[in-house]
Formats: sequence, structure tokens, C-alpha cells
Amino acid sequence: MKDTNKHKGLRNQLVKVLIDKGIKDKEVLKAISNIPRHLFIDSSFEDFAYQDKAFPIAADQTISQPYTVAFQTELLEVKKGSKVLEIGTGSGYQTAVLLEMGAKVYTIERQKELFKKTKLFFPKINYKPKKIIFGDGYKGLPEDAPFDSIIVTAGAPFVPKPLLSQLKIGGRLVIPVGDAVQTMTLFVRTGEKDFEKLELGDFRFVPMLKEKN
Ligand code: SAH
Repeated sequence: MKDTNKHKGLRNQLVKVLIDKGIKDKEVLKAISNIPRHLFIDSSFEDFAYQDKAFPIAADQTISQPYTVAFQTELLEVKKGSKVLEIGTGSGYQTAVLLEMGAKVYTIERQKELFKKTKLFFPKINYKPKKIIFGDGYKGLPEDAPFDSIIVTAGAPFVPKPLLSQLKIGGRLVIPVGDAVQTMTLFVRTGEKDFEKLELGDFRFVPMLKEKN
């Protein structure tokens, strides 16, 4: 579990790439410059960890591309103490970005293998999500709702209603919606029954699963 000056240098270069691609939120950039992404992926990809690319992790899943992580996180408008629900724990990298920004994070993963692996990994790098749950992201987490923000990190074929209903008024849901290609979609809850919807470009994610594995 080593983090060296070389890794830190590579991270600073990655941050420059993200700024060039349009990421502005200083807290997001600071989190990315602090987190040892190479520890979240298989050691055979370690040399490439700070390229702006997605990589395979266990159970045929991927760690999202840093640009995608930064883009989604920026849209969440996380503040210190924000209560955030993440659907798709995966490698835990996105979770770590939210924790670095001072959010209280509840994260759900539907693949048992990844759930177990990442749950054991968090304490090794000193990250403490509020809850790590093996469960179904389509249902959200009613017992801990409402949330300031909800982030979905898998491609959703449709927008699950429970996620909208688990937002605080003023809360934000960031979700990639679509089948082969997904449109990044932001919902802001403006009232009990009212939502503003914004579509923000195309991305590619692994699909949000319906069955437990
Ligand atoms: N945030 C992750 C991205 C992982 S890819 C990271 O930074 O590494 C998407 C993840 O969503 C996968 O781990 C996948 O198993 C998980 N997933 C897919 N469908 C899900 C569902 N219905 N509920 C919760 N997690 C799901």
C-alpha cells in the first residue's frame, strides 16, 4: 500500500488533464490529487492508474474514468457534511472522492465479490463510509433517506423512482440513463413533486444490474 512522490507527480498531471477537459470544482480536483488511485486497481495496471481511463476491476466491472468521476461529482455539489448515496461501490474510488470532500457516504453494491473486496479495502486506506451495503441500487436506501445527493455509477435503463423520492428538497440526483450509451442526467428536486431535469452529454458505463450476483 505504497504511495510515492512519483505517484503524486502523476496525479498532479492527471489534475491538469481534468482542468483542460473543463473540470472547475477545486474541491473535486483536490480530492483527485490526494487519492492514490493506483491502490484501487489491479497492480498489473498500476503504471497506467493516472491516465484518464477506465480499467477492469473484479467481477467484469470497471473503475470509472477520472474525468467521469470528476464530472459527476461536480454536478452533485457536495459540501462538508452532505449526506450522499452512491449506487455502485465498485472499486471504492468514487466513494473515496466523496469522503475526501467531507461527505457522509452510503454506498450500495450488487456484486457480492466486489462488495466483500472493497469493504475490506476501505479500512486499509483509512476511508470510512457511513454504510457499505450489499443490495439493490434500484431501491435506494429508504431507511437512511432523504439524501442531499445521489450518484449512480452504472448505466441505468430508466430512472428508478425510489431514487427521486429519496432526495431532500433541493437535492440532486446524477444518473447516466440509457442502454448502449447513456445520457448524463441531473435531476434537482425543487418541490415535493417537482424536479428540474438537465441532460449533459453522452457517457458509457457498465449496465445497472437487476439481479443479485
Ligand atoms: N463507483 C465505481 C464504479 C464501478 S462500475 C468506482 O469508482 O469504481 C459500476 C458498479 O455498479 C459495479 O461495481 C456494479 O457491480 C455496480 N452495480 C450494477 N448494478 C447495480 C445495482 N442495481 N445496485 C448497486 N450496484 C450496482
